[in-house]
Amino acid sequence: MSCTQAKACGYHQNGITTQSHWGGGKKGVSPMPECHLEKNKVRCTCTYEPCDRKGRCCECIAYHWKMKELPGCLFSAGGERSYDRSIRRFIAENK
Ligand code: SF4
Repeated sequence: MSCTQAKACGYHQNGITTQSHWGGGKKGVSPMPECHLEKNKVRCTCTYEPCDRKGRCCECIAYHWKMKELPGCLFSAGGERSYDRSIRRFIAENK
């Protein structure tokens, strides 16, 4: 299987999967078979257009989680447009 974003992905080299996306090859955890960049881009609800992580959900989650934030797609339309990706905002929206 190859990844359509091999360079950006970091989990594939020359179309060859070098490691599991999820679970690091742990027993019972299936590796992600391929990158769904184009499909992800179509359904991405994030309106922050300059972002080059759109469609690369694994990078999006990792980026925001480093700051203890969540991806825009987990918020309401209004919450997403506020660009406040904080856990506090997420909890307030989902009480
Ligand atoms: S949620 Fe953040 S990282 Fe993800 S596409 Fe939007 S701006 Fe980019």
